[in-house]
Amino acid sequence: SSPRFFAVTQAVERSYIMIKPDGVQRGLVGEIITRFERKGFSLKGLKLFQAPKELAEEHYSELKERPFYPELVKYIVSGPVVCMVWEGPGVIASARKLIGATNPLLAEPGTIRGDFGIQSGRNVIHGSDSPDNGEREIALWFKEGELVEWTRNRTHMLAFRA
Ligand code: GDP
Ligand code: MG
Repeated sequence: SSPRFFAVTQAVERSYIMIKPDGVQRGLVGEIITRFERKGFSLKGLKLFQAPKELAEEHYSELKERPFYPELVKYIVSGPVVCMVWEGPGVIASARKLIGATNPLLAEPGTIRGDFGIQSGRNVIHGSDSPDNGEREIALWFKEGELVEWTRNRTHMLAFRA
């Protein structure tokens, strides 16, 4: 029998990842960026940003009818957030795994929420839930020209001597 080959391919996607105000205040920015970097995804956009209320409302417009919506909007504008675009194969689902369940008490240890949180109302980080929402959120939080087109390339780690 001939050998069988399995092609493990995932579409290259972009996810909008945001460190929420509690994550910034608690000094988790470096830790969180490290987890995405060492996983192997590429950082395409990054900024510290004080969100206006209208933007937080628009970002979470799908949750408008939920009882916690007003509190959620207040939380997101309560201090600066770190806005990021991470790119790579399957990054949407993979980022959600790195992040963990919405309620940090239920999130597995080893995930960001599982390691650093205890309540849904202060769950440290946001990650897009679909490629379409990813693109919608990137367009909301980043302006034209704020994203950088580059390729992560290991030759940058090597020094050559003549
Ligand atoms: P996510 O995709 O895992 O971030 O979760 P959702 O899209 O369902 O909810 C968006 C955000 O709303 C969550 O990340 C929480 O910050 C907040 N949230 C969700 N459920 C609750 C809740 O029951 N109480 C409060 N206070 N906030 C919640
Ligand atoms: Mg969500």
